Amino acid sequence: SIKQSAKFKQFQHQAHQLVQRGFDQHVKLAVTGLSRSGKTAFITALVQHLTEQANSQNLPFFSVVQQHRMVAAKAVPQSALDIPTFPYRDGLNALLQGQWPESTERINTLRLAIKYRSGGGLRAQFSENHTLIVDLIDYPGEWLMDLPMLDMDYSTWSKQQLQLLSQAPRVTQAEEFLSELEQFDASAPVDEQQLAKLARQYQALLVHFKHDLKLSVLQPGRMLMPGDLAGAPILAFFPLPEVIDAPENSGYFHLKKRYQAYVKDVVQHFYQQHFCHFDRQIILVDLLSSLEQGAEVFAEQNQAINQLLSYFSYGKSNFIKRLFAPKIDKLLFAATKSDHLSAEHHKDLALLLDDIVAHAKNNLVFDGIKIETMAMSSVASTKAVQVMQDGEKLNCISGKEMKSQHQMTFLPAQPPMRVLSATEWPKHGFNFPSFYPDLTADKKIRHVRIDHVLEFLLGDKLR
Ligand code: GDP
Repeated sequence: SIKQSAKFKQFQHQAHQLVQRGFDQHVKLAVTGLSRSGKTAFITALVQHLTEQANSQNLPFFSVVQQHRMVAAKAVPQSALDIPTFPYRDGLNALLQGQWPESTERINTLRLAIKYRSGGGLRAQFSENHTLIVDLIDYPGEWLMDLPMLDMDYSTWSKQQLQLLSQAPRVTQAEEFLSELEQFDASAPVDEQQLAKLARQYQALLVHFKHDLKLSVLQPGRMLMPGDLAGAPILAFFPLPEVIDAPENSGYFHLKKRYQAYVKDVVQHFYQQHFCHFDRQIILVDLLSSLEQGAEVFAEQNQAINQLLSYFSYGKSNFIKRLFAPKIDKLLFAATKSDHLSAEHHKDLALLLDDIVAHAKNNLVFDGIKIETMAMSSVASTKAVQVMQDGEKLNCISGKEMKSQHQMTFLPAQPPMRVLSATEWPKHGFNFPSFYPDLTADKKIRHVRIDHVLEFLLGDKLR
């Protein structure tokens, strides 16, 4: 009868929806990197490549696009109401005007829905179109640098920081702060004013280390990227030599309490609230800038990367596993701004990054995490040009250089293919000028290998 068949149809529809829902997938893709590593440019470009430029000329290595199975992608309202939305439109408008977007300095999110056709298998039998929901989460890499604090009490942390402060290159700038600490009687009754003053001094030091010395092992990270916590007393602490049995009203006791509160309410909170829900993580690294800064800065960046990696290796540092059971199954290290090199040297940059993480990589593979290293550029700012000089063809790059504000053709240095020792470091160092973003005549973003990045991070979810 008609009634029955209508019922059956309704049932079929419901079953179909159920199956569909079961198949609709969701992936939380976290994007991090120290400030200026290129997170804002990366997310803006990624959204634009997926929503407006998802064609096989633009993304030949992204299989869902290359196989013409991508239907459409668009930004949709996010479900997390407590995280600001990534200002994608602002970023795009800046790029369209030939400017770099303003960097974001806190956690942000953006939800994308990617509609695609299945490439075959079980999925293809149930429905033509599927949707993959991608939550992009952008957060400052400075916050990740706080991870080790979870495993340290105040006295251990203080000892480590004071040791760092007493060594080159920090010691020259830290002398004044260290001598004030010497005069500070930490077992005397607390003087809030004095604590606040020393905390401000410590923060100024960290900011100086970051901006002028370009160092990366800096704690607490929120002093550099406070997000909502700017000016909050929970951030007003600094390292102190240990005072055994400090009385409860002493300065030492107060700082110890603040440190503990920071670790629990800020660091641990971030990991529980966000980090342990990430499925995939891309970490952007600006190797070219740290090469420019010289051997010391470069070495410290490597140390920071390796420290960071050791925390993804859950087998090894199992305190993290106990605390949060993170579920990241793919980790991508991407050396950004590869368009500052000529194309023939892109692979050198990838090899260099690979050399930095080589040791830690083995442990991660052991823990079942897929890890890759790549050299890429989210928004190309140069074009390749060949210049003849004395009968020799030179592979140069050309673009509008930022310092001179002029169009410039430049022969970029070859980056080292592996980590150099201090004695191997070239006498004149490295120099990689920066350029303004360079879009095509019809306002399309050009990239280097962002399709490889997309394939590694999302390809398997779009089969
Ligand atoms: P964030 O602080 O990690 O969000 O970094 P941004 O995305 O704001 O990037 C910082 C700066 O790096 C930009 O202003 C650009 O000068 C440069 N940059 C970022 N991405 C690229 C890229 O793909 N190519 C080039 N050439 N420069 C880039």
